[in-house]
Amino acid sequence: MRIEIVAVGTELLLGQIADTNSAWLGENLAANGVASHFHQAVGDNHDRITLALRTALARSDGVIMCGGLGPTQDDITREAIAEVMNVPLDRDPRIVDVIAAFFEKRGRQMTENNARQADVPRGARVIPQAGGTAPGLVCPVGNKVVYAVPGVPYEMAEMFERAILPDLRDRMARAGEEGVIASRVLRTWGASESSLAESLQDRIDALDGAPDVTLAFLASGIEGIKVRITARARTLDEVTALLDEEDAAVRHTIGERLGDIVFGVDDESMEVAVAGRLLGQGLTFGVAESLTGGLIASRLVNVPGASRWFKGGVVAYDTQVKFDVLGVPAGPVVTEPAAGAMAVGAARVTGSDVGLGITGVAGPDEQEGVAPGTVFVGLALPGHPVETRQLRMPGDRERVRQYGAISALDLLRRALDARSA
Ligand code: ATP
Ligand code: MG
Repeated sequence: MRIEIVAVGTELLLGQIADTNSAWLGENLAANGVASHFHQAVGDNHDRITLALRTALARSDGVIMCGGLGPTQDDITREAIAEVMNVPLDRDPRIVDVIAAFFEKRGRQMTENNARQADVPRGARVIPQAGGTAPGLVCPVGNKVVYAVPGVPYEMAEMFERAILPDLRDRMARAGEEGVIASRVLRTWGASESSLAESLQDRIDALDGAPDVTLAFLASGIEGIKVRITARARTLDEVTALLDEEDAAVRHTIGERLGDIVFGVDDESMEVAVAGRLLGQGLTFGVAESLTGGLIASRLVNVPGASRWFKGGVVAYDTQVKFDVLGVPAGPVVTEPAAGAMAVGAARVTGSDVGLGITGVAGPDEQEGVAPGTVFVGLALPGHPVETRQLRMPGDRERVRQYGAISALDLLRRALDARSA
């Protein structure tokens, strides 16, 4: 099954927005063992959209179109699909009702434009809208298929998971590409892509002759590097066994060379990894942040149920606040001891078992003679002497702050593991 992605929107061609939808779809198709050999981007023009769609259908088994399903005059994906299918558009009164209710709930009047979103090419199946107002479409074209989803990234992703992927799986099963494909992502922090690739070379070589398991790297910037294991087998049990086996082999190989850099699996973020450990050890947590200005606290409250273990944080940006609120001793504040004192202060001020302090220089200028990109982290764990660490972060101000936040959380993760070991 070869899928082609057609992203619709003039703003993509003008470079006003980057086509992150196609990147996301490409990644998620590959993760599910679906090949995609072409991507197209096309403007909001009827003739060019139909040309793009016909071209895609001529060389691929299925097409995913994103964008141009909205209510405005330049949203014409539906019309283009109907033309290529050579069918009329029928207005579905049930969808009109859903859209009208959506507007009513917000105390607004539905305009005639919005009813266009209820137009369905005859013979197509609707993917009901979860949020927003535009439903998606599954349109059979001969023995091929055209999927259409809105351009809004989270609506696109949600419909892909809910409707497109299951439909693709059905089609692949029917086409005799039976079997189960599954993947698992190991998320790492603390190694460079080249050292990770190098340490995994043995595994990659070992898998070379075995097409049922593959490894791939995905550099994810401030979220670290992901190692994706994809396996194919006849049944779900077999595929899970393959994933488990390779998961263990990869962790063993990485661990020997690079230590404990795997912090999570699949969607497990660093904050989720930290949350699980704090909860498991029955510890509460407080943070004192200087250069990250609340980034760490903000990440932590992403985790549902964070109030069970997260007490709060202090953004101690100004030196005097570090002294007065956190009890950092007078003197330089961009140092390891200052980070340690901030950690102790964070635990005290928030009444937490564990405290973390982070200070440093985001740049662009140096501070107290300390170079931009230098970050100091302090950790205060119950029953342990305060631990401090100096780190070097690459990149500009924003990246130093983001890297600083996740690196500090990673230190906390490792310290909690060491404590429970
Ligand atoms: P809406 O109902 O919101 O109008 P739509 O299906 O008509 O959705 P578009 O109008 O094409 O979609 O895009 C809506 C928004 O989604 C755009 O303003 C843009 O921010 C984002 N978007 C659209 N296409 C892409 C894409 N390929 N990659 C990333 N973002 C996109
Ligand atoms: Mg639109």
